[in-house]
This record gives sequence, C-alpha cells and structure tokens, in this order.
Amino acid sequence: MAPKPILWIVIPCYNEEKVLPITAPMFLDKLAALTDAGKISPRSRVLFVNDGSRDATWEIIRSLAAKDERFIGISQSRNRGHQNAVLAGLMEAMDKCDITISIDCDGQDDINAMDRMVDEYLAGCEVVYGVRSKRETDTFFKRFTAEGFYKLMKLLGAEIVFNHADYRLVSTRVLKEFAGFEEVNIFLRGMFPMVGFKSATVYYERAERLAGESHYPLRKMLALAFDGITSLSVRPLSIITGIGVFFSLLGLIAAVWAVVMAIQGNTVAGWASTVCLVCIIGGIQLISTGVIGQYLGKTYMETKRRPRYIISERTWEKTGRRWLEGSEGEDKE
Ligand code: UDP
Ligand code: MG
Repeated sequence: MAPKPILWIVIPCYNEEKVLPITAPMFLDKLAALTDAGKISPRSRVLFVNDGSRDATWEIIRSLAAKDERFIGISQSRNRGHQNAVLAGLMEAMDKCDITISIDCDGQDDINAMDRMVDEYLAGCEVVYGVRSKRETDTFFKRFTAEGFYKLMKLLGAEIVFNHADYRLVSTRVLKEFAGFEEVNIFLRGMFPMVGFKSATVYYERAERLAGESHYPLRKMLALAFDGITSLSVRPLSIITGIGVFFSLLGLIAAVWAVVMAIQGNTVAGWASTVCLVCIIGGIQLISTGVIGQYLGKTYMETKRRPRYIISERTWEKTGRRWLEGSEGEDKE
C-alpha cells in the first residue's frame, strides 16, 4: 500500500474543561473519517497542548489519552498564551508526523474543512490557510475590530492572509524551515506566509463557541494586534521619517513666508526668527528621530536572525516529500 501522510491535529487548550469533553470526540471522529477515506495514516494523532490551565483541562486530556491511543497531550509549565501553545504543539509534532493542522478547541473552526485541507496538501500544497468566509456569529463589534485589524496590518507592512486566524495545515517540511525563525515574539499567522512554499486557502464558516468563554477580550486582542504589527514590520518607523520630511518642508515654506512678512514690516520684532527656528528645528528633530528609528528597525530585524533563504525544491529530489519517497512515513512510531 502506498504510504499515507501522518497527520497530527494540534489543539491549544486553556481552561477548557467545559468544552473539551464535547469537542475531543469530534476531533477523533474526524481523524477516523480521514483515515477511513484513505487520506491519512492510521498513525495520525490528536495532540492537545495544555497551556497552563488552572481548571481540570489537563486531567481531562490525561484521561482521554488513557482511553484512546490516538489522543495525546503535552502540558506547558505555565500559561504562555495561545501563540506559544500552538508553537509548542507544532514543534513537538515536527519530527513525528508529516502534516499538522492547528485548530482551536472550542468548536468554532469548522472541523469539516479539514478534508479539503488534506486534499489540498495531497494535491501538492505545503500550507493551507483556513479562512473565515463569514463572521455572522461574531458580534458587530468583534467583526468590526477584527476586520479593521487585518486592514491596518496590511497598511503597516505585515503580510497576512485576510480573515485567517490559526486554523491551518502546515507540512512538517515547512515546519522545519519555520523552526529557523528564532524570534521570541511570535505571530504565527503573519510568519507562515514569510516561510513561503506552495499554499492554498480553504473557506469555512466560523461558528459559535460550543461551551465555555472566550479568552480574547478587547484588551488581549489589542495586545495581539500590536504584537503582530511590531513583530512583522518596521514600517511605523518609516512613517515617522515621512512625517518628519513633510513637516521640514512645511517649516521651510513657513520660514520663507515669515521672512517675507518681516520684510513687509507686518510683524513685531523677533517674530520671524522665532517662527523660522521652531519650524525648521521641529522638522529636523522629527527626521533625526526617524533616521535613528530606521537604524533601530534594522537592528531589530537583524536580532531576529531569520533565515535569509529557504529552498523549496531540488532537481535531484523527486518530490521533496519524504513520506512519499520511501517507507519513512510509514515507519514512524
Ligand atoms: N488559548 C490558549 N492559551 C491562552 C488563551 C487561549 O491556549 O492563553 C486557546 C483556547 O483554549 C482556544 C484558543 O486558544 O483553544 C482560542 O481561544 P478563544 O476561543 O478563547 O479565542 P476566540 O476564539 O474567542 O478569539
Ligand atoms: Mg474561540
């Protein structure tokens, strides 16, 4: 039998004791259905990442793992936030499977989109983004702020997929390249497009949380937005330089105007020289701040030590997909 890719579904969980007992069997059913359809290996797994929950989440995960070998779990020593929990799961999965799908544990992301994600992968894509086609179940406020966030990110130079959160299929081949991005402040949905490789999008409708409460109040959403912008782009610094140049020019014009006024004798003594100084010095200061900012931005980007190039294909390799080439995929434990 031809080898089939091993899939690990990676699910971050933080204080989810209410919803986990409902959604866990749904994930397992999906895994079984994909296996029965012959799309993935029977060695596929559902990996829960406990993000330092203070309720019974970890106990639930442990008992799930005891009941069915396809359920497995890891627990973080403390709460580190959604992004870090997903990262922990992906890094754990990296050497043990061929594809990962990250998804929230609250049932909001449509599990049925996984079939299409796997199809896209089998058709040659390495990254498949789950994109929300509608946000009708979100409140107007959440929808407005979330969509505004995507637009602002684009404006400020961050390349992200519109309305894509962290429901995403990523091959371990891409994960291995992604592991070269060593930055500490991570914003996954903006980083995967940077890694490149063939990608696709799959649309799904976002549903309501099946139980429990959201962990993303406005405060956390704003923090995530700010993190996203500042970790992906230094464009705000260029904007400062731009504003500096604009005001310097304005200052220069104002200076000429002040001199003309002074010559015409329309002003009190000392006015023209004061206005000239204020305008020009103000502009020069903004430009200087901007220039310092540009260097700072470069240093910032350098400190991330991101890979400078990533190879996606080589002529002497058949597909670049190890599991297709030999028994390796099937042999994994
Ligand atoms: N989550 C996490 N750590 C946190 C906050 C959230 O692992 O500190 C998980 C949570 O269990 C869920 C996912 O991240 O699986 C998304 O969180 P939530 O549903 O609360 O966010 P929303 O869908 O409301 O944006
Ligand atoms: Mg949710």
